[in-house]
Amino acid sequence: MQPLEHGLRNELKPDDRFNFECTDKCMGKCCRFLTILLDPWDVEVIAREIDISGPDFLEIFCNYEFGSASQWPFVWLRQAEVGPCAFLLEDGRCSVYSVRPRNCRTYPIGRAVQFREAGRGLGPQEKLFIVERPEFCLGHEGTRTWTVSEWLRDSAADKYHELSDLYLSLIDYASGALNCRTWLTKKTSGLLMPLLFLPDVLRTKLGVSKNLDHESFYRRRIEATKVLLTEMAASFGQGPMAGAKTVPADENTPVLERIRQIIFAD
Ligand code: SF4
Ligand code: SF4
Repeated sequence: MQPLEHGLRNELKPDDRFNFECTDKCMGKCCRFLTILLDPWDVEVIAREIDISGPDFLEIFCNYEFGSASQWPFVWLRQAEVGPCAFLLEDGRCSVYSVRPRNCRTYPIGRAVQFREAGRGLGPQEKLFIVERPEFCLGHEGTRTWTVSEWLRDSAADKYHELSDLYLSLIDYASGALNCRTWLTKKTSGLLMPLLFLPDVLRTKLGVSKNLDHESFYRRRIEATKVLLTEMAASFGQGPMAGAKTVPADENTPVLERIRQIIFAD
């Protein structure tokens, strides 16, 4: 992760104003040849909307790889990287607009978050900025004026940011406190995929009741991933449990059973 100040110019405050209005003249030009990284919440929400399983969604619409340094699994929209996004309609509009990914949602406002201060009680720090304007984008020539807060509210970004921050703080914890780049392998990282990106598969495997709503299940999965990673790290002498005499997980407990224990713990 980069320092929060890295590459940021013109930091915005919530009351700052800017002009923006999408126009048919360039509709959808922004949805081609770009890398749209997806959070777990993006993946599950779009998959539900288009009624497709998590594994099929990843297979048909995404690329994913394990970061060369961290081995963390990163997922992004495949077709958008090499041409028109798979969800771009002929008229340039987005076929999944109401559930579009976080990174599509707030353009032209970008957001950077820093978590390292959270342990000192300061919580995540965010910085908002205008994304560098591509030549083809005519939105800034529109006459409609917004404050930054109005734009984010109109984009229904708050919930996406909140749930994304949970995920990003997990990555920050794993790479910082757990030093995961020294012990996480593709194989162990692969174990995280159902926890992070395949909630439908995990629900079935664990027999999770439909009464547990999607957001609550998401929060429990992120917490379970954190616990599981902490226990894994301990066995490599890393993280807050390294050297602890008592580790909650019996090392012979299968991973799925351990996930069940954590997810259903009160
Ligand atoms: S998901 Fe929608 S908004 Fe995002 S790149 Fe694809 S078509 Fe565009
Ligand atoms: S104004 Fe910019 S963001 Fe809006 S449709 Fe055109 S290219 Fe895309």
